[in-house]
Amino acid sequence: MRNIFMLLLLLCLYTSVTAKEYMGNIIVGTYAKYAAAENNYKDLQKRLDADKRIHRLKEKHGFRYISRVSDHYSIIAIEPFYDDHVRSAVFAVVKKLFPKAYLNTLPSKTLLAKYEDERIPVGGAETGTGMTASADGPQTSEKLSSGNTALQWAAVALFFGLLFFHLFQHRRQKARIAALEHENTQLKEQNGDLQSINAEHERTMNLREEMLGKMTSKLHKPMKEIVGKSRHVLTSELSEQQSNELKTIKSSGEMMFEIVDDLLDFMKIRSGKLALKNSIFNINHLLDNVVKAVIDRIHRKDVEVVFEIEKGVPAKLIGDPVRLGQILTNLIENAVKFMDQGEVRMFVGRNDEAKEGEEEIVLVFAVTDNGIGIKEEEIDQIFAPFYQSRETDGSGLGLAISKELTGLMNGQLGVRSSYGEGSEFTLTVTLGIAGVNEKRQYRLPDSAYKKREILVIDYHDHAATALKKMLEYFHNNVDIIPGVELKNSVPEMSGYDMVFISEKLFTFPVVKHLHHIEAETRPKIVVVGSMLHKPLRTNAVKQMADKRLMKPLNQQRILELIIEFYGQESATEDGTISVMDEMTELALKAQRQKREITKENFSEFSGAKILAAEDNEINQKVLQGLLKESGIKLSIAGDGKEALQMLKENREYDLILMDANMPVMDGYEATERIKSNPKFSKIPVVALSGSTMPEDIDMMLEHGMDDHMAKPIQISAMYEIFEKYLERSRKTEEVAQEAAVHQRSGKELYVYEDGLKRAGGDPALFAEVLLEFRSLYSHSVSAFEAMMAKQQYALVKQLSLDIKGVAANIGAYRLSKAAETLQTADFSKEDGSTLLERYRSVLVDTLKVLDEQLTERKAVAKV
Ligand code: ADP
Repeated sequence: MRNIFMLLLLLCLYTSVTAKEYMGNIIVGTYAKYAAAENNYKDLQKRLDADKRIHRLKEKHGFRYISRVSDHYSIIAIEPFYDDHVRSAVFAVVKKLFPKAYLNTLPSKTLLAKYEDERIPVGGAETGTGMTASADGPQTSEKLSSGNTALQWAAVALFFGLLFFHLFQHRRQKARIAALEHENTQLKEQNGDLQSINAEHERTMNLREEMLGKMTSKLHKPMKEIVGKSRHVLTSELSEQQSNELKTIKSSGEMMFEIVDDLLDFMKIRSGKLALKNSIFNINHLLDNVVKAVIDRIHRKDVEVVFEIEKGVPAKLIGDPVRLGQILTNLIENAVKFMDQGEVRMFVGRNDEAKEGEEEIVLVFAVTDNGIGIKEEEIDQIFAPFYQSRETDGSGLGLAISKELTGLMNGQLGVRSSYGEGSEFTLTVTLGIAGVNEKRQYRLPDSAYKKREILVIDYHDHAATALKKMLEYFHNNVDIIPGVELKNSVPEMSGYDMVFISEKLFTFPVVKHLHHIEAETRPKIVVVGSMLHKPLRTNAVKQMADKRLMKPLNQQRILELIIEFYGQESATEDGTISVMDEMTELALKAQRQKREITKENFSEFSGAKILAAEDNEINQKVLQGLLKESGIKLSIAGDGKEALQMLKENREYDLILMDANMPVMDGYEATERIKSNPKFSKIPVVALSGSTMPEDIDMMLEHGMDDHMAKPIQISAMYEIFEKYLERSRKTEEVAQEAAVHQRSGKELYVYEDGLKRAGGDPALFAEVLLEFRSLYSHSVSAFEAMMAKQQYALVKQLSLDIKGVAANIGAYRLSKAAETLQTADFSKEDGSTLLERYRSVLVDTLKVLDEQLTERKAVAKV
């Protein structure tokens, strides 16, 4: 549209420019009546055409006789003229013929065109008055032509105006487009610059992080050396000054250690490299480890830690115990650090009602102290990295790390505090429940659930109440006597089965009172100290106490205590014990220790090939000595590099024992290389290290080590590792199978003698083991079914690995094999339910044989 308009304008312009110059016209007459005009027109035509000169001029110059009609009158004119002489010549003739004729000034071409269009045949008489026309005529005619001219000029002006406007707009648009393009290019350039700056920045950051990571882990080793060595030197004879200086070196080293560790952790979390584990753990063990870690970091002070664990909290949970422990350690450590004396309480409870068959639980951990508290304006800042309201030994990263870890666990960490009065940190996390089908969290022999009369004497109310609850869980009746009451008189203790008394309250009058009670009726005395206090090893404690426990206590430790005091009693009372889970684990472990594994037991693994990477010559000798007559082939490498070399020389090893800290190449790096090489990645690597700190063990596992064995090496621990990772030598199996053939019919799947031998040849003990095995694994099929339904194959493998080992231990070889098929199955290809069916039938057979065996033994025993 716009273009068409422009074309029209250009056309107009062209016409106006190309037209010859117009000299005006001759108005022959103006007539009011049309008829007069027509007559005069004809007359004019006739007369002028008769004039040869005019006729020639007309031919040559192209003027015409025209009659036009306007609104009120008609005009006869001769036009157009482009030559003044011609017009004058014609005018001279016309004037003679029509005396009223006159010369007209220039009319606009537009009007002319219009008049031409309106040409009509003319007629009518000339009016006299029409020549009012003579007076008006020229005026009117002039008006018309000047109007035409004005319009023409206006059009031209309009055209030019529009043209200029258009051109102006066009130029402006062009300028704007150019400016935009320029800007665009600039932005692109800037963007490119920013991108490369960004990439550069990221590269630098990565490099920095990598460098920092490397640096910190490099620092880790010498610091460990400093701390370890100074710890060692501090135990030898030194002058006081030397000793003090060394102590400073040690504590500074430890502090640096902590900072570096925190920094490493923080960077790992921030760079998204920290993956949480999902393993089964016992909450009580976790809490014990937390306290141990706190004690390691805090100098002894007059503060007690109390755990208040709600009844509904399952003992076995699924989550990342190391990281959860890290958060709790930080919270308890801070609480202890920022108070001088009193109690730090940690409440552990669930935040909702228990539901039947629930698989997850939201746990709330609330750590309360009555320390210095936090100012209101600081509350939001304490979770920021490196924030410290006062200079302490910490890195200022503890809460920042805790917050990040809580986030990774989809949990929440918050705080309420009153400055000068104390603080409460609350952590909420969702954890899996491991023993969903277990009704009782802590299994005691049924008969051990006895209404025993127990007295608790403590000067801290919370600690006493918490202990009372734990004891009541096992159906005991508990009385509490506050410590202050002991100032006046010693309470009567004779009627009680057990007395728990705070270490500080175990004074001479108490001891005297106890001496007065007859030995048979004297209660069992449990002296309760605090892990954070200096232990009071008085003679009285040594002589009178049946047991010394350390606060904070937990359900598991109370359970262990009751088993220790009354376990045996209950076993003999009703002949059978139904002990499960924790208890069995403990019992099995204890039995293993009782069995006193000697180095002769290593021959069970004869033929196995072990590579030990160990730089310390004494340790090398110890290993060689231990395995000398076992038939195990032991090769020794002096460092990680040598170990790799030996592996490459195509020697097939069944197990690698790897010292963590070695010169040239340490155990971590060597393990990483082994695990990243598909040729060797399946060989189990067990770390050998002096540290048993969860963080260190975690680091070992993170570097790909499959397990950890503490130094100095203990035979029983080494045996456990071998049991886990080495096949029993063929010889032993063959012997066992031969023995099985000689068993009475129907018992081939079980070799009693083998089991008995492993239980140290003690039939009573072995009977207990069998009972425990029975109660622990008789329901394993339903446990497997539940795991498979939820596709928890890792748990299936874990449980089947346990069963495989334990079954082989008691001589149930076929069951061990059946468990092994579950443990090694590829559930993406194999049908789990078929394998489980096979397992079930072997288990049923095995249990039948075990029952027969037990009845037989009982009968024999009675005889
Ligand atoms: P640090 O390692 O220095 O203790 P954290 O991140 O653990 O660092 O704590 C940061 C700061 O939060 C502490 O310096 C202290 O000011 C404050 N804070 C943490 N816990 C407590 C508490 N229980 N009572 C008082 N102040 C606390």
